[in-house]
Amino acid sequence: MSQIMLEIDDLKTYFRGEEGTVKAVDGVTITVGKGETVGVVGESGCGKSVTSLSTMRLLHDTPGKIVGGTIKFEGKNLLELSEKEMRQLRGNDMAMIFQEPMSSLNPVYKIGKQLEEVIRLHMKYNKKQARNHAVSMLKMVGLPRAEEIINEYPFQLSGGMRQRVMIAMAMACNPKLLIADEPTTALDVTIQAQILDLMRKLRDERDTAIMLITHDLGVVAEMCDRVVVMYAGKVVEETDVETLFTEPQHPYTKGLIGSIPKLGENAAKLESIPGNVPTPANMPKGCKFAPRCKSVMDICWEKDPELLKTDTNHTCRCWLYQDNDIENKEDLLEVSE
Ligand code: ADP
Ligand code: MG
Repeated sequence: MSQIMLEIDDLKTYFRGEEGTVKAVDGVTITVGKGETVGVVGESGCGKSVTSLSTMRLLHDTPGKIVGGTIKFEGKNLLELSEKEMRQLRGNDMAMIFQEPMSSLNPVYKIGKQLEEVIRLHMKYNKKQARNHAVSMLKMVGLPRAEEIINEYPFQLSGGMRQRVMIAMAMACNPKLLIADEPTTALDVTIQAQILDLMRKLRDERDTAIMLITHDLGVVAEMCDRVVVMYAGKVVEETDVETLFTEPQHPYTKGLIGSIPKLGENAAKLESIPGNVPTPANMPKGCKFAPRCKSVMDICWEKDPELLKTDTNHTCRCWLYQDNDIENKEDLLEVSE
């Protein structure tokens, strides 16, 4: 791999509540290289957003705490930085795009003011230079009438336009790492395609490392080099994007792929994975996916499998792929297809 930009290692982020501890992120390891786009996929509640918020150290609005692991950005452990040092990195070397741009744009300030603020915080520009840079960023993300938009308020823009403003803001200081958490989920399909195009273009021009969080495997197929599949706070599979679609291993991944609508297929016939992501109250003792797995075996109820290397470029957390002598393994593997 090229130069490593982000290295999340064995990250644990827990929420302590009245009903006990929720292990929202429980030993997650993700690496992103320069110019590389790594997808993080999994159903809602798997810990994707908590992983991204932990990486940006933006958990303070939540009861969540990082209780273990390291997060390195260009070799520096972010967990050891002061809040001030972290603020310097955020928006400068590392930027984040959220699903709902309204929550990260300030409704009472004009677009231009917000963009200029970000630019002036990190670049040595005077007011006029900052304004010019803001206009050119808005043009770069394909917003028409950039000179006018700069004097408008967030509510005056459509959802797709706001998301473009967010991308302009995130990319304004030329970050080395972009974390995009469901950047297109709230948008309709046409706008979604345009935003993905834009992100691809920016990445290719600037060699930005991207951690792209999504529950949409279509987005993964279009954007990513490598994919990390998460389930119940853990990584269950990781490989390159092509292998993920052609030779998925974990029954959960197979289920996710099976639920992608195929061209011409009746949506009603879509196979989704039966059951739900476990809640803290009913967290299984062994493999967290066991209650929903078509290939479940006795051992799965007893012990959580480890994330093991199954091929040169493939890891999987499943008893079917561990070194054991399960009798009817071939049949079970077939069932999970
Ligand atoms: P995803 O982004 O994959 O949909 P999240 O990372 O948002 O999932 O959440 C993972 C789990 O973390 C949730 O199911 C929930 O149990 C817990 N969690 C997330 N945010 C909070 C919060 N603010 N307070 C308490 N628990 C939370
Ligand atoms: Mg989320």
